[in-house]
Amino acid sequence: TPSRSDHLLADLNPAQRRAVEHSGAPLLVVAGAGSGKTRVLTRRIAYLLAERDVHPGQIMAITFTNKAAAEMKERVSDMVGGRARSMWVSTFHSMCVRVLRREAKTLGMSSNFSVYDSDDTRRLITLVARDLDLDPKRYAARTLAVHISNLKNELISTQEAADAATNDLERRVAEVYAVYQRRLVESNSMDFDDLIMKTVELLQRFPDVAEHYRRRFRHVLVDEYQDTNHAQYTLVRELVGVAGGEVPPAELCVVGDADQSIYAFRGATIRNIVEFERDYPQATTILLEQNYRSTQNILTAANAVISRNPNRRDKRLWSDLGEGEKIVGYVADNEHDEAAFVAREIDHLIDSGEFNNSEIAVFYRTNNQSRVFEEIFIRLGLPYRVVGGVRFYERREVRDALAYLRTLANPEDTVSLRRILNVPKRGIGDRAEACVSTYAERERISFAAALREAVHDRVPMLNPRSRNAIAGFVELMDSLGEMVTRGDDVADILEEVLSRTGYRAELEASDDPQDHTRIENLNELVTVAREFTEQPPASEEDTVVVEGSLAAFLERVSLVADADQIPDAESDGVVTLMTLHTAKGLEYPVVFCTGWEDGVFPHMRALGDPQELSEERRLAYVGITRAQRRLYLSRALVRSAWGQPSANPASRFFGEIPADLLDWRRVEPTRAAPTTATTWRRGSTASGGLGSRPAPSRGWQDTPAMKLDVGDRVTHDKYGLGSVVAVDGVGPRATATIDFGSAGTVRLMLIGGVPMTKL
Ligand code: ATP
Ligand code: MG
Repeated sequence: TPSRSDHLLADLNPAQRRAVEHSGAPLLVVAGAGSGKTRVLTRRIAYLLAERDVHPGQIMAITFTNKAAAEMKERVSDMVGGRARSMWVSTFHSMCVRVLRREAKTLGMSSNFSVYDSDDTRRLITLVARDLDLDPKRYAARTLAVHISNLKNELISTQEAADAATNDLERRVAEVYAVYQRRLVESNSMDFDDLIMKTVELLQRFPDVAEHYRRRFRHVLVDEYQDTNHAQYTLVRELVGVAGGEVPPAELCVVGDADQSIYAFRGATIRNIVEFERDYPQATTILLEQNYRSTQNILTAANAVISRNPNRRDKRLWSDLGEGEKIVGYVADNEHDEAAFVAREIDHLIDSGEFNNSEIAVFYRTNNQSRVFEEIFIRLGLPYRVVGGVRFYERREVRDALAYLRTLANPEDTVSLRRILNVPKRGIGDRAEACVSTYAERERISFAAALREAVHDRVPMLNPRSRNAIAGFVELMDSLGEMVTRGDDVADILEEVLSRTGYRAELEASDDPQDHTRIENLNELVTVAREFTEQPPASEEDTVVVEGSLAAFLERVSLVADADQIPDAESDGVVTLMTLHTAKGLEYPVVFCTGWEDGVFPHMRALGDPQELSEERRLAYVGITRAQRRLYLSRALVRSAWGQPSANPASRFFGEIPADLLDWRRVEPTRAAPTTATTWRRGSTASGGLGSRPAPSRGWQDTPAMKLDVGDRVTHDKYGLGSVVAVDGVGPRATATIDFGSAGTVRLMLIGGVPMTKL
């Protein structure tokens, strides 16, 4: 007899079907790109409801893309209607905020805590480092932030970090970490990494809390499992629980692809996939091998590139969508020429009637590369959207406005408070701020508390004018705070903030056209707040009791991820521009991968570091496998970086793609025009940019010698990074003595073919 879930299984292959129907032991689905891992996850949720009488409230799904989350919610609400809202579908961070807001009291915190993003974090670390008198040149806030983040991702406490420190840097980091953490607590704030770490702490320290969540969530599903770090991994384990506990473990289903792990810099470890079977002894592993996304040519190229990575499990990914078109290669003179090529090509694709704008995506390695594309797209009137980059919520005026709201919601929030203390200018200068902060540190009270003390003249060295200004500010914030206590609408509070602080008036009085854009952005923020107020609350059982809707609004905007800007519907007719990192999990009929140059992609940083290079190669694999039917790979001979034109050699990844898959529309001219380039280009053999067309070979005699000076930094394919200690001879007889660190000091002839690049 046909089961009511037949339609859920009909368009799945046997392996996918097994994954959907599997019950009991933890399940790991490992498979290459486009093999239906996300589809399995979505379908499994539907199947649980239809066939296994699971209630949506028992499901917790961790996803990374809006698209997947929307698909899951939609499918579930089609099946069970409004009850779907009790299912938790979110990112790790949103899930943790939700848990922490409810359980804040247990951890001795208040539930209106602020969430600090990387910019806030850096500000606070800068303040801490300054208070500790650290040399900002030796200990940049950015670097300290990375180290602290790494410690948190490994769940290492401040005490453990201090105990384990073995050298100067580690001791310094531990010291900053400890003070930073104390200041976060004083500010009633958490950074992104805390969200995970504190949730783990909560579940480990309070068994009854852990039990509550384990009783509730009987199914935990995680997409993109390869990008979880140790803290997230531990969180999943704690949520699921272990056999023999009060509550039997939840069913766990994770899907991932070790070849797409691209967040090592955030502490993601492939280990979590590789050792899943060891960590969960009863685990079942299912492999998926058929790719449903891309043509065979695209897939073959992707397989060829990724197979160069050492220590990976080989996968046999195939597609029955046919060979498809060849991959188009293009060598541009410079980045403008590259962008013009992309624009022209998009024009042809649209004209052919075969594709529309929203089916096309342009990828690049770093956000700053979007600018050239934007310029030309604007000029040609080609509608586009940039995902990521300077995001709406990162604009100065938007951050200022939000800082006001955050201070109102959580008066202890030091970073937000100090941000707006004198914005717009109200006579509380740096010196006054420093007096207050010194006092706060000395008395071990929060900055906000010290500010109140200042009003009562208890802060030394503060002049009367500053004191009056502070008193006025405190009064203003108190009276705005009454709106929050009353539970006024966020949009109304925001409007009031903008007018009573004089923020809007200041912008309106300005002649700077940028300030007019700023007003528009603030209006946009008011609109966002209005829409938020008008939305129905999430399911009742999950509503967290927080003071009014302000906290909920702030939570929403603080956790907006790049991926959230990607529209769910493909109907709005614009080309999408984004970094390779953001493209994870997505698919487009047409993909342009641009900037395929050594030093750009792979990133400069990776040239002398095999581990980083492997990560870049995984990124290439992610990029290529986003494409369904058409793939373009391009590079520029010369690209301006930091105002300097530099000649970049072809990305080594070009050379890893079988030549017969590439259709070169334009190749590197055999005799490149002289440029003001500072980088020497490798000979034609390694350029990879010539593809199927044989290149006339060049002897070393007519290859210009590489020009190096003492002190220059280079990277050599064999020896890695080095610095030039001596240069001898001229022309083709020039040699350089280079210190390659642990690889030794080597004397090399500076002739064509030497696999070395000047940095
Ligand atoms: P990635 O590794 O990039 O995240 P994935 O493994 O999650 O990819 P999906 O995004 O789930 O793959 O699927 C890729 C495409 O193939 C989607 O368009 C999906 O709808 C389609 N697809 C998956 N399985 C099947 C199937 N059995 N029949 C037809 N189409 C399928
Ligand atoms: Mg996926």
